[in-house]
Amino acid sequence: MSTLVIEGLRASVAGREILAGVDLEVAAGEVHAVMGPNGSGKSTLAHVIAGRGGYDVLDGSVRLDGTELLGMPAWRRAEAGLFLAMQYPTEVPGVSLLDMLTESVCTPEGAAVAEQMRSEAGRIGLDEQFLQRPVNVDLSGGERKRNEALQLGVLKPAFAVIDELDSGLDVDALRLVAGRIEEATEHDGLGVLAITHYSRVFAHLRPDSVHVFAGGRIQESGGSELADELEAEGYERWTGTAPQPDPDAGATPFTDPFGDPFADLLT
Ligand code: ADP
Ligand code: MG
Repeated sequence: MSTLVIEGLRASVAGREILAGVDLEVAAGEVHAVMGPNGSGKSTLAHVIAGRGGYDVLDGSVRLDGTELLGMPAWRRAEAGLFLAMQYPTEVPGVSLLDMLTESVCTPEGAAVAEQMRSEAGRIGLDEQFLQRPVNVDLSGGERKRNEALQLGVLKPAFAVIDELDSGLDVDALRLVAGRIEEATEHDGLGVLAITHYSRVFAHLRPDSVHVFAGGRIQESGGSELADELEAEGYERWTGTAPQPDPDAGATPFTDPFGDPFADLLT
């Protein structure tokens, strides 16, 4: 069975350490949620795993079925079975989605890829015109996210890191896209690292484990009840941030200027 193992991962960007020793293990077919506040380094974690440039990896390892990914260029990691669905998918002017996926799948049966893409597009409600258009150019946030899901459906990676899937998707689109990914975990054994700061995606993409990410590392792990707890209480327990003072606290009680001035006398 396939596994993605992240051990003691430390990385910095612009001289600041953002990942301070991340440990995680995802097995085939499992969904692991990584939840953390804004700016905590969730996208940094996704990018460092996928091999995006601009980050300094200081220590640790990321292994897919025992193969060390750190040090490999991004395309080799993809070839090894890793997929990244970006929070802000990149525009690729001049390259159509059809050409990109036909090249990526590396098969002479281009027609089969086109057919598969049309079938995937139908499943997630993406208009077929987008298959011929340059990748992500002039697409809405939601269309870009569907585009990422379509690529995942066609490429059938072993593991997917999915960064803020719900951003830009309305509720109906989220149900289709997250549902498609959930199905891939069940039928193709896809392992998922779902990075998010909201738990609404988990109504359709059900996590086996939930990890709280703050201060550069995983602070706590649990089941899906932990996501509900975070939704209700926020990240304060792990970030040490004091609750924001209520601006109305201690203020003079509100008096309605249009109220009955003698109402108090009657009570
Ligand atoms: P999250 O995805 O959890 O919201 P990010 O991983 O995007 O957080 O960012 C973590 C921190 O790293 C933030 O403070 C962000 O400003 C900083 N950061 C990310 N990328 C860069 C960069 N290229 N240069 C400088 N700082 C960066
Ligand atoms: Mg992010």
